[in-house]
Amino acid sequence: MKSIALITGASSGIGKAIAQQIADQYRLIICGRRISRLKALSKVLSHKTDILIGSFDVRDQLAVSHFIDSLPTKWQKISVLINNAGNAHGLSFIHEGDTQDWDAMIDINVKGLLYVSRAVIPKMIKAQAGHIINLGSIAGTDVYPRGNVYNASKFAVDALTKGMRMDLNTHGIKVSEIKPGLVETEFSEVRFKGDLEKAKQTYVGYDPLQAQDIAECIAFMLSRPKHVNIGDMVVLPLAQASSTLVNKQQK
Ligand code: NAP
Repeated sequence: MKSIALITGASSGIGKAIAQQIADQYRLIICGRRISRLKALSKVLSHKTDILIGSFDVRDQLAVSHFIDSLPTKWQKISVLINNAGNAHGLSFIHEGDTQDWDAMIDINVKGLLYVSRAVIPKMIKAQAGHIINLGSIAGTDVYPRGNVYNASKFAVDALTKGMRMDLNTHGIKVSEIKPGLVETEFSEVRFKGDLEKAKQTYVGYDPLQAQDIAECIAFMLSRPKHVNIGDMVVLPLAQASSTLVNKQQK
């Protein structure tokens, strides 16, 4: 019987690519708010593995704990948790920021990750095994102008990853983080509130990473032998040297 992996934010971008990448090896609990997309993904992957859909907003602590606590028996033993759900909302100077955007980033990227982890980790402790992979970002080690609160949320993911690794150290649970640079997903569309032209500009003039690139790295992390835990992995497109230095004359 295959082990179970729960992926948050599987309805698009990196999370969806992870589901596609690891479907041969794991039974999948794919989560997100857009249920029609999760159903479509489930249909595509159903010939490879068993799929369970989790439709909840990670900000809703009760919905998160209810979903995890009432999993059908055969879905309870979660071996892998990919804390991927998250987004940037807005790109504004600190004195002009929209406080609703700030709430969204802190509530989804930080508190949402905590709520899901809090619900899943006791199951891993019971099994004295598991692997948690948190989606950080280069934005979580390298601040950029107008990134302020998004940066802070990803610095928090970095701190939480390190804290989780310490607190779970005696329980046989691996904790890893992956920190991508620029990946072409719906990320910029969300950041710029549906302004597709602006979103497209983020990825012009160079070859950005694709979601598949990150999914392959995560599959590598998951496939290491039991005694190997990849703590941290920074993955950048060739054109990107730091959060602020991107060679847009590459093409
Ligand atoms: P994306 O295509 O916009 O996907 C974001 C995913 O998060 C969606 O599946 C979305 O699902 C889910 N999500 C957002 N808010 C949610 C909420 N309140 N409750 C539940 N699910 C929620 O963006 P992506 O690039 O794949 O981003 C995935 C992760 O990678 C994020 O943590 C992001 O910060 C990180 N990252 C991205 C980049 C990049 O350049 N793209 C770089 C570094 C790190 P629903 O809308 O269906 O809920």
